[in-house]
Amino acid sequence: HVKMSGKGEIAVYDAAFEQGRLHRLEIEQQIGEGLAKRQFDVFYQPVVDANTRAIVAVEALIRWPRRPAGPIDTQQVIEIAELTGQIHPLGLFVLDRACREILSWDNVKLSVNVSPAQFRDPGFERQILHVLEQTKFPPHRLQLEITEGYLLTHPENAIRAIKAFKAMGISIALDDFGTGFTSIHYLRSYGFSHVKIDKSPLAGLPHDKRATLLVTGAINLARGLDMRVVAEGVEHEEQAAILSASGCDELQGYLFGRPMPVSDILTMVTARLAPPAAGKLHRY
Ligand code: C2E
Ligand code: MG
Ligand code: MG
Ligand code: MG
Repeated sequence: HVKMSGKGEIAVYDAAFEQGRLHRLEIEQQIGEGLAKRQFDVFYQPVVDANTRAIVAVEALIRWPRRPAGPIDTQQVIEIAELTGQIHPLGLFVLDRACREILSWDNVKLSVNVSPAQFRDPGFERQILHVLEQTKFPPHRLQLEITEGYLLTHPENAIRAIKAFKAMGISIALDDFGTGFTSIHYLRSYGFSHVKIDKSPLAGLPHDKRATLLVTGAINLARGLDMRVVAEGVEHEEQAAILSASGCDELQGYLFGRPMPVSDILTMVTARLAPPAAGKLHRY
């Protein structure tokens, strides 16, 4: 317990605490309504091949227009949904919607974020299978993105779940690599097919020598362990050039497209089937 020195401080502390709690409760209730009314949107961000720049995958990212109160930051929605347990229905909603929407885009993979709480749920594998059966989405086109938090706290379970998904044909990517403490030993034993390098060190490319070393080191490490490497948060052509020259396999970021509604990504995917006209890359 925190000791407070005076009455005034206790009051301030309580008020702030109470306000935070009320805010969460309010959002929890709104998420519940949003789910019931299917008010959430799924946006898609292109992931391109580092050499050909063809779209090889799309990452599904949830968006909440939150009517009538107004849009709310995705990270915040996810954090609260994780606290309240609403991440389970929310995650399945995103998966189901995305599988239906991109079903017919034959050569494009779908990457969906999964929270540690979902991964920990013993029914999770069965739920995923159920969505795949319902939507007829081919498992080999699905990739689940997980962050390292869960891996560090539950390595045995994580390895078992990843194996089970691989056996189903689903691939697993390690998301936000470079922000936490994944040990090299774990990186090898988990069996990821892809490693996604977080956008934070990318901001330093190419001028910050240490950031560049970190990124190229991560690429070499992951490739040496037979994983494909994706760089997130690529905003400038300079960064893209260094990344592909360093052996990065796939690129994702505003340079190639922001997260966008399904109709827009469809236009982009269709356009990319033909060689892109010069200058078209910066349309979004
Ligand atoms: P993430 O999985 O690391 O997703 C990438 C984030 O980086 C997205 O933020 C995307 O909009 C942003 N981004 C992409 N390219 C660039 C760039 O060039 N520059 C910058 N500055 N940012 C870029 P977003 O959409 O706000 O999502 C935030 C996080 O929320 C995601 O990070 C993911 O962890 C989580 N999230 C989103 N949708 C879902 C979901 O359906 N389920 C779960 N469990 N988590 C989700
Ligand atoms: Mg992700
Ligand atoms: Mg993520
Ligand atoms: Mg990420």
